Amino acid sequence: MMESALTARDRVGVQDFVLLENYTSEAAFIENLRKRFKENLIYTYIGSVLVSVNPYKDLEIYNKNHMERYRGVNFYEVSPHIYAVGDNSYRSMRTERKDQCILISGESGAGKTEASKKILQYYAVTCPASEQVQTVKDRLLQSNPVLEAFGNAKTLRNDNSSRFGKYMDIQFDFKGAPVGGHIINYLLEKSRVVHQNHGERNFHIFYQLIEGGEEDLLRRLGLERNPQQYQYLVKGNCPKVSSINDRSDWKTVRKALTVIGFNEDDVEELLNIIASVLHLGNVQYGEEDGSACITSDTQIKYLARLLGVNGTVLTEALTHKKIIAKGEEVGPLNLEQASSARDALSKAVYGRTFTWLVNKINTSLTYTHYSVIGLLDIYGFEVFQHNSFEQFCINYCNEKLQQLFIELTLKSEQEEYEAEGITWEPVQYFNNKIICDLVEEKFKGIISILDEECLRPGDASDLTFLEKLADTVGGHPHFVTHKLADAKTRKVMGREEFRLLHYAGEVNYNVNGVFLRCVKTVCVCVCVCVCVCLQVMCMSENKILNQCFDREELSDKKRPETVRYVFFLMFFYVMKQLRFLRFTWCVFLSSSGRFDEVLIRHQVKYLGLMENLRVRRAGFAYRRRYEVFLQRYKSLCPDTWPNWQGKLSDGVATLVKHLGYKPEEYKLGRSKIFIRFPKTLFGTEEALETR
Ligand code: ATP
Ligand code: MG
Repeated sequence: MMESALTARDRVGVQDFVLLENYTSEAAFIENLRKRFKENLIYTYIGSVLVSVNPYKDLEIYNKNHMERYRGVNFYEVSPHIYAVGDNSYRSMRTERKDQCILISGESGAGKTEASKKILQYYAVTCPASEQVQTVKDRLLQSNPVLEAFGNAKTLRNDNSSRFGKYMDIQFDFKGAPVGGHIINYLLEKSRVVHQNHGERNFHIFYQLIEGGEEDLLRRLGLERNPQQYQYLVKGNCPKVSSINDRSDWKTVRKALTVIGFNEDDVEELLNIIASVLHLGNVQYGEEDGSACITSDTQIKYLARLLGVNGTVLTEALTHKKIIAKGEEVGPLNLEQASSARDALSKAVYGRTFTWLVNKINTSLTYTHYSVIGLLDIYGFEVFQHNSFEQFCINYCNEKLQQLFIELTLKSEQEEYEAEGITWEPVQYFNNKIICDLVEEKFKGIISILDEECLRPGDASDLTFLEKLADTVGGHPHFVTHKLADAKTRKVMGREEFRLLHYAGEVNYNVNGVFLRCVKTVCVCVCVCVCVCLQVMCMSENKILNQCFDREELSDKKRPETVRYVFFLMFFYVMKQLRFLRFTWCVFLSSSGRFDEVLIRHQVKYLGLMENLRVRRAGFAYRRRYEVFLQRYKSLCPDTWPNWQGKLSDGVATLVKHLGYKPEEYKLGRSKIFIRFPKTLFGTEEALETR
């Protein structure tokens, strides 16, 4: 038996990284992932953290049989799987009566959204249901195609990339049936509405409508069945994607909208807005005496009708500004200003409609609930050749999550040791609070400085922002600018970059153009040109827009949307929620269908997996309930095989001694055994897994 166990270990690696002997070696970590990937074992644990490598092919592991195999079974008794995480969270919610959260992170294309859908399906199939509950289950499942149509797009890395962060609560009643849900969206990539990189597309819904919309619908909306006609759809030069069928997706989305409870009026208003964005993109400007003017009124006519606004007022809004900094002055826009006002309006309209859509879905899912399992689908650390404001936001969120993760992991370790009557031994770890403070501290953190520069009238620019950063946080140990860097660093850093030393590694952020432009569109209210357009939207007869834009926000009394405020709305709410939950972390790694070592190593580094493993191994790396441990390994010792008759703890003590562990290497708690460094003997895990 021992021999076969070791052979299995050689072949398929260990199913829990805490069982790796050489646990500080990144090479050993990656080798283990590689072995398992080769055997189509895409899931591995680090203690209770699930790590997965995207197989990019259909594995027969997501059917009903598999769901049954994981239902109600102890986490470690079956091979690692996303269903095990779903089931474990569900059972903890039921038995401990504590709300749960499953945190799904990883870079684009790693399989996060697929995983959250799999968890949702798992609950839909395995949880108890009644007829009344069925409606909610259907709505929960159908919310996905709708959100994906409006929030996902084809990118270079993923044909169905989520361009927003999502936190979804699945709500359960006291019988454990899923009865409702609630979604919070944040950081929608609005810039995609007006611009796409080469080989990428705009949000799916535009193509679905154009390809799939019925003839009379398109006629009413004034649209042609050809995406190439629309400026907002031609930038990426990629109207068709082989893995996507826009026409059939259109049917799915239309049906889903009905299931979720959108009536005909809602759908009509919604599509009016989508068509309006396309028409806005086709508004062309000419120039007269240095001022912008609209060359053809075709689009304006459609826009006026679809949005229910006055055409003359809209034309005026798209070509004039109100300078808030200097009072109520009105003046013409030049060509560049006018087109950026038009684009900013499109982004604002689309972004707010997306939020409206999410809220509408939420209304249809509301139900009195008893307990909750949250799913957080968030981008992992992003490090590209060129990193801008977007990467800064994403990486900061990950920094915060890491802080929370370490804090909660250590806290729960401590609680478990105490509950089991074992002395707690403090764990040494890197506390990344210092980096979070560098970003978020009031008055002198990066976000505060950015806010200040954004709101400052006059000559604020990317470079003044960078200078101010250097003046204020230049001495910080986790911050470097080109000016302050040593000669070696300077070679790999641009003049317009600053570097943050994140917990996971170094990232250079470029402030050139993108930085402030990005920020200004976030802070819609401080963007002078858009103000007039927003006023027009407030007058819209379109019921959705009417709810999206309110007059209040245009008054001077309302505080401007600073970056700090936007961050607060989008993310801190979620962070606050997480604190009260028991959460399970799932980390997804992307691959190109084969095991690309360079790519995987990069992700292991930036997802902080080695640090997670180190924290996990710092105390007692391995623990199991007595009955589980005995049941699993009793065959390895003649005294415990086939059945141990005495006290469970005595059986475990006999077994562990027989396995060669010295007294200082393990501890027996009230109901569990704790082992400091589990040795090769646990190769049996893999033998059992592949049996
Ligand atoms: P993004 O951050 O861009 O939204 P993501 O992490 O959500 O990326 P997904 O859209 O979930 O990535 O996955 C990308 C693609 O990878 C899927 O369309 C699918 O083809 C494939 N994929 C993901 N998970 C699995 C899986 N478990 N088995 C097989 N293929 C998968
Ligand atoms: Mg996704």
